[in-house]
Amino acid sequence: EVKKEKRDGFKIYRKLMSNRAATRLLMQADIKRALKEKEFVMHYQPVVDFHNNSVVGAEALVRWYNTKKGILEPKDFLELVLSGDMEKEFGCMVFSKVLEDLKILNKNILDKKLTISINISKEQFFNPSFCSDLEDTSKKYNIDRSQIELKIVESQVMQNISVAKDIIKKLHLMGFKIVLDDFGVEYSSLNHLKLFEVDKLKIDKSFIKNMIKDKNDLNITKSIINTAKLFNLKVQAEGIETKEQYLKLRDIGCDYSQGFYHSNPLPIDDFINYFNKT
Ligand code: C2E
Ligand code: MG
Ligand code: MG
Repeated sequence: EVKKEKRDGFKIYRKLMSNRAATRLLMQADIKRALKEKEFVMHYQPVVDFHNNSVVGAEALVRWYNTKKGILEPKDFLELVLSGDMEKEFGCMVFSKVLEDLKILNKNILDKKLTISINISKEQFFNPSFCSDLEDTSKKYNIDRSQIELKIVESQVMQNISVAKDIIKKLHLMGFKIVLDDFGVEYSSLNHLKLFEVDKLKIDKSFIKNMIKDKNDLNITKSIINTAKLFNLKVQAEGIETKEQYLKLRDIGCDYSQGFYHSNPLPIDDFINYFNKT
């Protein structure tokens, strides 16, 4: 009896697993279709300079305008993209899309050169043609590369330090700015700041969330800001939701602010309106 139950349980388990695998395959096929039909759109979340409270740029965040399911966020599809075989196509699509949008931004915003930051996955970063793809695309769109920040997660780049060091150096020579994302979240080493030529550190929202109440989170935030200063780097916080967090970060010397306190990520037209209103 017990044996039979175990067997049935296993059958159900196997069935669930194969359903899950089938769903993933279907979703991945749908992502490929969506890439062809250009259903991915970038939204832009304003970045504010603490020193003069003005918008200086934005982070580009991908959204899927799914004809059936509405607007999907990265948590709904990004893992599937990165684990599938369309990762390179996806990364190139995001990069081209941002450059196309940057052309529009520059046409509409004449009095300021905005900086747009783009998330780079580790799969994309370590792809052998990554640097030349960026070089070709940015030539095609004829943009000023200093307007682009490439956002790389510190703990992911560490998986191959010597290769990462060379890639970052190359990107820097090409004129891009480099941001270390989620600095201090996982294994960090101050040595990375010596090895990697980066321009900015980004403080993860997990530290910002409780920094007003939790002394440890406040101290970590202060340490990252001080580290950035010592190494002559810029420092940006994300996930700022309240005025209190904003004022505290300003007081302890953070350079740039990003979060719902200023604005959600916005479609490009709304971002231009937001910029013109502030
Ligand atoms: P991230 O790089 O940490 O981006 C910040 C995330 O926090 C965004 O979520 C943003 O909408 C959200 N956020 C912004 N302000 C606040 C706030 O005040 N409070 C809270 N709780 N959240 C806030 P989103 O757009 O869902 O993106 C999630 C992640 O997906 C990003 O995390 C990034 O790692 C990845 N991602 C987004 N777009 C792209 C892309 O184009 N390419 C790649 N490779 N990854 C992307
Ligand atoms: Mg991130
Ligand atoms: Mg983050």
